[in-house]
Amino acid sequence: MLNWTDTVGLGAIGYAAALGSVAGVLYHNSPVVAPVASRFASNDSVALTFDDGPTPQFTIPILKSLESVGAKATFFCIGENISAHRSLVKDMVSAGHCIANHTWHHDHAGIVRSKRYWSWELRRTSDLIADISGQSPRLFRAPMGFKIWNQAAAVRDLEMKYVGWRAWAWDTTGTNAANIYRRITKRLAPGDIILLHDGLEYARRHASQIETVTALPNILEDIQRRGWRMVSLANL
Ligand SMILES: [Zn+2]
Repeated sequence: MLNWTDTVGLGAIGYAAALGSVAGVLYHNSPVVAPVASRFASNDSVALTFDDGPTPQFTIPILKSLESVGAKATFFCIGENISAHRSLVKDMVSAGHCIANHTWHHDHAGIVRSKRYWSWELRRTSDLIADISGQSPRLFRAPMGFKIWNQAAAVRDLEMKYVGWRAWAWDTTGTNAANIYRRITKRLAPGDIILLHDGLEYARRHASQIETVTALPNILEDIQRRGWRMVSLANL
């Protein structure tokens, strides 16, 4: 029979285990649900990735900054945003950037949805990217980095790979350009996948990524100073 101490002890263990499982599933680089790439093998390059776009007012100046230093990047685009800005996505492909899948709706409640839901979200976005670029995307990033089994099954069916990140800046939280620059560059190492945001998902449709736009030239200059290349993840 359990006495009070045992109950508390078991409760605490159960609670810790539950928290551990949740963290194991939700942490963006957690391999619990599926393998995820947060780095790649390199001693002289890093990979810039931009999520939630395209949103022309931010994506276009970001493309100009990248072009000015010859950097190639990977854009994890939201299907709805691609659909609204097809010609911009075509330009991004022509410029040598990699277009990857970040779901159709970027629904924050998606982690409780069925495999059928995830298959639809991923397939519709991939079909549109293929229609524009002539190539079906191979890379997927989960909204907020939250991976869940039904989603992973859909990712597997479409023979896509999960991509996480190792350097990030909380650049969707209203922070400023100086903080974004400092957070990205302070511990950056070759082979790192960098997460920034060029676009707005539905839940943030009235927000701004202007601080990311402002920080980017300094980030690019810092990486150039180190002598590293900025490559897309097309060959990951
Ligand atoms: Zn996102």
